[in-house]
Amino acid sequence: MGVFMACEREHLTKRIEERGLRATEARCRILELLHETHQHYTPEEMLEALRERGRPLSIATLYQNLQKLSETGLIARFVGPDGHTRYDVNTQPHHHLICKICGRMVDVGVTGPLGSLRPRALFEGEDLDSWRLGEIHLEFHGVCPECQARQADREKPTA
Ligand SMILES: [Zn+2]
Ligand SMILES: [Zn+2]
Repeated sequence: MGVFMACEREHLTKRIEERGLRATEARCRILELLHETHQHYTPEEMLEALRERGRPLSIATLYQNLQKLSETGLIARFVGPDGHTRYDVNTQPHHHLICKICGRMVDVGVTGPLGSLRPRALFEGEDLDSWRLGEIHLEFHGVCPECQARQADREKPTA
């Protein structure tokens, strides 16, 4: 009938079509997962999460669609602190707060005069003034509340 499966969430269908893509089942599954969890998955983690939700995709389909979705700006691709390529549903400028223990990554803004930050050369001969600067990405590292609680539990003296 030529009717394709649109996303359960209507605004996602619209968002995909606005970028000139068809709202296929695979694209919907990926975007729904990212919008609902707000996690920053590697492709392997995404494969697992989709399987757990009962909405699996093949690895080839996943990779093809991650490529398309990031090319068209529906999701952002970045390399996390562990060196793995990850995907972010938040395509607005933002920073990440990362738990050093469990790796949980939270989207954050900053308070403070970020706009006045400038890179400073650490080696001679690097002419930073000639660069045209783009956006700034900061990475905050810390320990999340859940991991702090687990640590506190472990440190409790056993009677
Ligand atoms: Zn943690
Ligand atoms: Zn993010």
